[in-house]
Amino acid sequence: MTITINSITAASTATLDETHDPARESWVPGANGHADFPIQNLPLGTFSRSGDMPRGGVAIGGMILDLAALAESSLLDGEALEAAGAAAGPSLNSMLALGAGPRRALRRQVSALLAKDAPERARVEALLVPMVEAAMHLPAQIGDYTDFYVGIHHATNIGSLFRPDNPLLPNYKHVPIGYHGRASTIRPSGAAVIRPRGQTKAADADAPSFGPAARLDYELELGIWLATGSELGATIPIAEALDHVAGLTLLNDWSARDVQAWEYQPLGPFLAKNFLTTVSPWIVTMEALAPFRRPQPPRPAGDPRPLPYLWDEADQREGALSLELEVHLSSAAMREKGIAPLRLSHGPASNMYWTIAQIVAHHASNGCQMQTGDLLGTGTISGPEQGSQGSLMEIAGNGKQPVELPTGETRAFLADGDELSLSGRFVAQGAVPIGFGECRGIVAPAR
Ligand code: MN
Repeated sequence: MTITINSITAASTATLDETHDPARESWVPGANGHADFPIQNLPLGTFSRSGDMPRGGVAIGGMILDLAALAESSLLDGEALEAAGAAAGPSLNSMLALGAGPRRALRRQVSALLAKDAPERARVEALLVPMVEAAMHLPAQIGDYTDFYVGIHHATNIGSLFRPDNPLLPNYKHVPIGYHGRASTIRPSGAAVIRPRGQTKAADADAPSFGPAARLDYELELGIWLATGSELGATIPIAEALDHVAGLTLLNDWSARDVQAWEYQPLGPFLAKNFLTTVSPWIVTMEALAPFRRPQPPRPAGDPRPLPYLWDEADQREGALSLELEVHLSSAAMREKGIAPLRLSHGPASNMYWTIAQIVAHHASNGCQMQTGDLLGTGTISGPEQGSQGSLMEIAGNGKQPVELPTGETRAFLADGDELSLSGRFVAQGAVPIGFGECRGIVAPAR
């Protein structure tokens, strides 16, 4: 079955099939019209109920379809059965390592089972777990985590705060900038954000001191999850890069700006970043994203053309995403008074100077071995105008223009008790919108 969703099919080689059909509805109560998880999404995660083993699941509305139970149900066959069986363990790594074919087969069979009028409804109903009864875990065991810096407006904004004369370094438009982060401190949404201690030195201080970071910030990013890797010494050609990607989550790269300012030269971020990274727990698969692929915005006139290993015409035609991002903040006092969270920023994810394929191809371009379950952060995604920046440091002008909260409190940086929440919604004409689910954390006092 071929579905034409307006102009999307003409521009895209991403595969659209019956699972993207906007007319398809689910029999699961609350799934149709669900902000994040209608039947067109079907993201993958790892969950447990109290006392039982973590295992793979698929989100549908406010429910989780248990993949371990589904694999034993005789409701699947072929590659889909193989994928569900591989997802029965405590991480999705084995399943992700199978690549896109089995993942797509599972998506199609699960979509059919969850679709309105599916004759298997009664048997599938018994395999659903309410999300409110489940704890979410990291979707995969993460071997390595790398954070990039592809948000050009963020790079310019932060650069001008740290280096007013020299905001965007000369390499930025030639090479996707990144640094190796820390996998051991990545947590799913909801984990406490313990304020880190660190060494800082104010510009007017004679000597550094050690104590709780005063300038705690967040960074709005996307997380790219690798399904399949590469051998040591091998590369990943850019035209094949997306075949290695399982899908995306939201990612919050919590940052201690006062620690960062003092430590980051000459080797880059270190303790200012590695105390915690929060991800949304559901991987929205590349298959689900097919209707939301967009042309990469053209490079501004005069910008250098990337070297051949970073350039692919097909990637330029569909390497960006039709994704709206938002950040909300609520202080402890706001939650006590029942005041709704304040939206700090909103904007499109189209401000990425490098595409996901360019990020992956670049990472492997020196022969670095990539592995199933590797997580790559895009870097903070900021828009060019006020209200669209992806960090508080940018919004509040490095502390000079604090944000006023509905309680009259002000924030130049995050305070203990603040809850910070990222959200994202894929929207395209003719497609049912889908989202990531929650990516939040509450700041706890330094220990
Ligand atoms: Mn970052």
